[in-house]
Amino acid sequence: MLCLKWITTVPDQLRPNLSVRYVYAMLLLGPLPDHLRPIVQRLIVEARAKHSGADDEFLGYLLCGGPGGSNYLDEAGEVWTWTCGADGLDENVERIPDGPRKIGSIAIAALRVRELVEWLPRRPSTATDCGVCKSTGWLQPPLPLLLCSECFGLGWLVPNGAR
Ligand SMILES: [Zn+2]
Repeated sequence: MLCLKWITTVPDQLRPNLSVRYVYAMLLLGPLPDHLRPIVQRLIVEARAKHSGADDEFLGYLLCGGPGGSNYLDEAGEVWTWTCGADGLDENVERIPDGPRKIGSIAIAALRVRELVEWLPRRPSTATDCGVCKSTGWLQPPLPLLLCSECFGLGWLVPNGAR
């Protein structure tokens, strides 16, 4: 079962920093759906096999990454981010809490593993198309291929106050 949850309150200290009028309804992924667990398990097994012999810690299936950082999915459905300083030192690993950043990581990986789309929040009837990315989930040319920071790769937005 897909989990669609909304956070409808924003702490006062965050309100001055909110530039997106839709942010009051923050989407969450919820737990990894049971029917996707075997698929994630397979991804983890394959990733672990490729990782064998490596010196660094195994964090899970690579969802997305770039210079200085990568996000990984573990068997429990948690997403972990590994970052590294510009000098190649100062490595850090931390769990990404449920919310837009985790959704974006899963949305990127869903381009390769289509089943992961089923974990993403479903578009509610009150949602509107995202004008920034033209409902694609990706920034539009001439901008580089980057996940849309307005809709976090979903292609739609939830009106302010939606439940
Ligand atoms: Zn968008």
